[in-house]
Amino acid sequence: MCVSWQERFADAPDVLASADCRPTVVQVLDLKIGAGECITMAGPCSVETEFQLIATAHHVRRAGARILRGGAFKPRSSPYAFQGLGLDGLKLLARAREVSGLAIVTEVMSEDDVPLVAEYADILQIGARSMENYALLEAAARSGKPLLLKRGLVATIGDLLRSAQLILNFGNPNVMLCERGIRTFETALRNTFDAAAIALLKQITHLPVIADPSHAAGRSELVPALARIAVAAGADGLLVEVHPNPDKAWSDGEQSLNFAEFDAMMAALNPWIELRNLEFERRDTGNEAIEVMG
Ligand code: PEP
Ligand code: MN
Repeated sequence: MCVSWQERFADAPDVLASADCRPTVVQVLDLKIGAGECITMAGPCSVETEFQLIATAHHVRRAGARILRGGAFKPRSSPYAFQGLGLDGLKLLARAREVSGLAIVTEVMSEDDVPLVAEYADILQIGARSMENYALLEAAARSGKPLLLKRGLVATIGDLLRSAQLILNFGNPNVMLCERGIRTFETALRNTFDAAAIALLKQITHLPVIADPSHAAGRSELVPALARIAVAAGADGLLVEVHPNPDKAWSDGEQSLNFAEFDAMMAALNPWIELRNLEFERRDTGNEAIEVMG
């Protein structure tokens, strides 16, 4: 007998789609995420300098990105690596929003920093390493800001759904789930991109699903292919690392696209996005109700 998703994920009941619920649409400034259009969030791994950030903001906007990413508080794998500019980085992000008009997504690592980061950001990113930091999830949820919840490095889909449920329980419905690759026995790439998780989360939950091909691949040359896979799997958006000079990046240069590579990725994505949008339109016209396996 087939166990239903409701039974399987019984401790995340409000995250699951039901016959009578509409997909969650997260409003960020004038953008609607989860409403059918695939939204690209792009920018450097870390905020480094005003020139680096503003040049990237202008470039990714011209190429079609709608949201600027950039870390001011950085959870680095090595304690000796650059840890982020902190408040100075947030101020640069605010400046970049002012000059480019792009909304800002940036990570918050500690519950103590939530009020500060919420002052500057349009979306708070909960990093993979923080997915089960419940004190942080509570503080971030209570800020009322839209949250981008990244799947933990060793988190199952059930673990991700439980963390999303916790945020909903604290009264914040604006949650986006993010697949960013997980640790498996395969070590050729930085992480293993779980494209099936994107398809599954789109089928069984009502929350927008964002894919981060950069952290999944760990290598820039793989990012465009993983982005196409994510779009084909139904992702509502992409989170992509872009840097004016990846060789000189202070973090994650190996996986960052330069401007020309980002342009090429966006151009190659267009036909895939059009196909995906057609699929969404078909669903919206009511021909295909989202069914939860029973
Ligand atoms: C990031 O987005 O730069 C980042 C640190 O991501 P993750 O938490 O997925 O490792
Ligand atoms: Mn990064």
